[in-house]
Amino acid sequence: MCIFCDILKNQKYVVYENDLVFAILDEYPVSKGHILIITKRHAKDYFDLTKPEKEAVDEAIIWLKNTFDRMYHPDGYNIGVNNGEVSGQTVMHAHVHLIPRYKGDVDDPKGGVRGVIPEKQAY
Ligand code: 5GP
Ligand code: ZN
Repeated sequence: MCIFCDILKNQKYVVYENDLVFAILDEYPVSKGHILIITKRHAKDYFDLTKPEKEAVDEAIIWLKNTFDRMYHPDGYNIGVNNGEVSGQTVMHAHVHLIPRYKGDVDDPKGGVRGVIPEKQAY
């Protein structure tokens, strides 16, 4: 059983969808508006996606970004994908994190996604 396939099947919490992907708010958000863009097909990770799926992900990202800009007025965004357990992936169904960022949400944001290896974030 895959939790993302289950969510799609039940249409629970789906806030956006197009032909190939859907989006849900993350249950444990790291910021207001943290959202997951998920393929409708049970793909393993980003590298498993077809070109049309990647285009559908991009379409979703742009739509959600424009929506969150209007709703929450964030100051920036991180876009991130964990691929494989060693990178931090916990749900083995391809998804992209779109994370709105707000001035002052961390003391020093410098390095951003470099923080996947916390001691290497600052440089
Ligand atoms: P990963 O670690 O695989 O890149 O991301 C999985 C994400 O899914 C995590 O950020 C986690 O908070 C979120 N998540 C896990 N289970 C659920 C769930 O049942 N519902 C929702 N909406 N998000 C979930
Ligand atoms: Zn799945």
